[in-house]
Amino acid sequence: MPSRPYRLSCHCGNIRLEVDADLEDLLECNCSMCRRFGAIHWYVEASAITLLDEKRALSSYVWRAVHEAHQFCGTCGTSLMRTGYPNGVVALNACAIEEIDPFTLGAKRFDGRSKMEPGVLP
Ligand SMILES: [Zn+2]
Repeated sequence: MPSRPYRLSCHCGNIRLEVDADLEDLLECNCSMCRRFGAIHWYVEASAITLLDEKRALSSYVWRAVHEAHQFCGTCGTSLMRTGYPNGVVALNACAIEEIDPFTLGAKRFDGRSKMEPGVLP
């Protein structure tokens, strides 16, 4: 089991992050977006995240508003984070923590499918 600070990387290794935060507040969501990419959300302050390699390209998928984005590696497609939360919070993909077994994380479930505000997308 990895320990703090945690290192995250995409599958091809182009994007690597280090996160100095406790591994808590983990959430799975079944909304139209989250169920498709299957990440486990890990909510941390953006200030706790360090890019280990500068000048790397993240691709983003934007919906509803320009500041709400799903960020992923444009080369291998790994989901890395979701942005657009208030107070400088970012939802990292805990499944991208190096050496992690997502089955051991004990993420809670959020019924985004029925509890999220309706949007314009399916
Ligand atoms: Zn990649």
